[in-house]
Amino acid sequence: MQSPYKGKFKVTQTFKGSAHDGLDLVGLESKEIHATVNGVVERAGWENASDKKQGFGQYVRIKQDNSTDRYYYGHLSEIKVKTGQTVRSGDIIGIEGSTGYSTGSHCHYCVRGNASKNEIRDINTISGIPNKTGTYENTYYYLVKKSWKANTVRKTAYISQARIAARRYGYVIYDEYGKTIYSYRESDKPYYYVKKSWKGVTVKATSYISQARITAKRYKYVIYDHTGKTVYSYRE
Ligand SMILES: [Zn+2]
Repeated sequence: MQSPYKGKFKVTQTFKGSAHDGLDLVGLESKEIHATVNGVVERAGWENASDKKQGFGQYVRIKQDNSTDRYYYGHLSEIKVKTGQTVRSGDIIGIEGSTGYSTGSHCHYCVRGNASKNEIRDINTISGIPNKTGTYENTYYYLVKKSWKANTVRKTAYISQARIAARRYGYVIYDEYGKTIYSYRESDKPYYYVKKSWKGVTVKATSYISQARITAKRYKYVIYDHTGKTVYSYRE
């Protein structure tokens, strides 16, 4: 879904072709407006600075890369980009508002095939936002990098939420654009390293575990703490 909002938003007015050439959207979790395509900002300002109740009010127009399509984000209370600036999908470009011809805070979101009003494009097909009033959710994704002593252990696929249970690793959570949004390290409980051997030969060195959870079998186990010191050893 190409929504200018992250998280939940409402469609308050549907697309009706020339009668209403876009969708009116209201952010429910955030009022931040994000670019929905990669491109260049062609306009960032008032539609008519001498009549701030006219048309789109403060708006941003992005020319999509490799396309003649222009994406419009109207009625903004604040603009966060400048004309000529290159933007990527997901960049914050402004804040929802009620400037221009508007009676309440919302974003008029539309696509035109050129820089004028005469080539209205179907915003619903393009964006995947249903042409029906209601509440929808634009799920966004995080990339999680798991590290141990500053080395990356694993980079998971993008996940829709930071669903990492607190363990001992360091986690850095990125949004889908590579920006760090949160990082944390697992709790500092003592952790042990377990080496399993048979006649003096290491059979298996397990990864660090939070407890010596070795069930008694016939092997010899040596349990080290995180500094490498032997804390316990036993033979089955
Ligand atoms: Zn509208």
